[in-house]
Amino acid sequence: MLILNDKTFKNHNLYIMPEEYKEPAPYRRGEANPFESMMVRFDKACELYKLDKGLYNYLASPVKQVIVSIPVTMDNGTLEVFEGYRVIHDNILGPSKGGIRYSPDVDIDEVKALASWMTWKCAIANIPFGGAKGAVKCDPKKLSQRELELITRRYTVNMLEIFGPDSDIPAPDMNTDEQIMAWIMDTYSMHKKETVTGVVTGKPIIIGGSKGRREATGRGVMIATMAALKTLEIDPTSTTCAVQGFGNVGSVSAQLLNEKGIKIIAISDVSGGYYDKNGIDVNKAIEYVSKNKTLEGGNFGTPVTNEELLEIECDILVPAAKEDQISAHNANNIKAKLIVEGANGPISADADDIIAGKGIRVIPDILANSGGVIVSYLEWVQDRIGYFWDEDDVNNRLNRMMSEAFDVVYDTSIKYNTTLRLGAYIHAIDKVSKVLKLRGIYG
Ligand code: NAD
Repeated sequence: MLILNDKTFKNHNLYIMPEEYKEPAPYRRGEANPFESMMVRFDKACELYKLDKGLYNYLASPVKQVIVSIPVTMDNGTLEVFEGYRVIHDNILGPSKGGIRYSPDVDIDEVKALASWMTWKCAIANIPFGGAKGAVKCDPKKLSQRELELITRRYTVNMLEIFGPDSDIPAPDMNTDEQIMAWIMDTYSMHKKETVTGVVTGKPIIIGGSKGRREATGRGVMIATMAALKTLEIDPTSTTCAVQGFGNVGSVSAQLLNEKGIKIIAISDVSGGYYDKNGIDVNKAIEYVSKNKTLEGGNFGTPVTNEELLEIECDILVPAAKEDQISAHNANNIKAKLIVEGANGPISADADDIIAGKGIRVIPDILANSGGVIVSYLEWVQDRIGYFWDEDDVNNRLNRMMSEAFDVVYDTSIKYNTTLRLGAYIHAIDKVSKVLKLRGIYG
């Protein structure tokens, strides 16, 4: 295991501060990817908040970065070595929390940026977690179930000193799922000689997962949207909405917004989309996708491309597919009054000023899609108390926590006379830096 840097244990003999991190802000700047986009916003928020330079340097660098080798005997008998990462950006509010992704293109820089994203999300959601992210550089599409299990278990063993219900709690992310969380929980438990369900979230319900977790992100999108409509004094039943992406987040958001009387006039997935000014039957579309795995061939209205969907005349736009869908090149064509970022980073930083200039409100990703991490927190709480709530209980708690998060972000944006996005970052920076000052710097 290689520990690149560790703020908490500065005198640890494995502490190596790489040259590139001796300067503040160890991230590349630019507009080219969502993580860099995020850091552009972080910088702007620090400027508005007038964050002390020392604290800025602290918050811009991760607490700990770990790189491990994962040797696996493949099905054909050859030995392959994969690389695994875990980055703890900050653990000042509590144990760090963040997903694990399996991807052939992932590298430590990406994991580092995603980890800091989690710090801000948890602070805004007011849950007692810091931010982390993990990854294994592999292509799950080319792996058998046995190889996937071996990679997961060896990665977990290599992270035994990092993971823990009181120290660092992983969850699913891109290409990882409930089964992978079950293997992590089992491997960790075997080594601890006891069942430790709280070491991961996003587990199957039967082994300590939470009811309502699957729908939590989409439900959070709905709650945030309703809160925004209320502040804008817009009656939901007179609004129309277009949703890009029809997976976990997009389909549940569309369904729940529709239940609130909002007319869903366009939906899409990677195959393209449909538009119907009279409203799309969302439940029928969900049923179709559960059978066919795609919206293609569903004939839910006039076919539209994903680019066209973003530019449709509507009140609410929910980009819930992937990053960088709205950038400087198409921001001027957006007609929605409110954008709710279901996906992470669907608007790139170069589009922020254009969108704001057009008077479009944006509920930023670190607030809008935090329903998932909030119910992950509720899962962790249930695992620790050993008592499991029914779905209404979970949903009511999520509703309260998301609504409070919206209010505090809204108030911060008013106080600083800025956008909800920068208000969200400022609130998170304020909270983490205040806790940091109270706890003090040890060493
Ligand atoms: P998913 O894989 O379930 O669904 C993704 C959807 O987007 C699919 O319908 C897919 O066809 C569509 N899509 C993919 N590429 C597209 C493209 N180029 N154009 C249009 N549609 C495209 O994923 P998900 O869990 O719904 O996640 C969606 C986004 O939300 C991601 O950015 C993810 O990081 C973010 N997010 C998810 C959660 C969660 O709990 N699932 C939590 C927070 C953030």
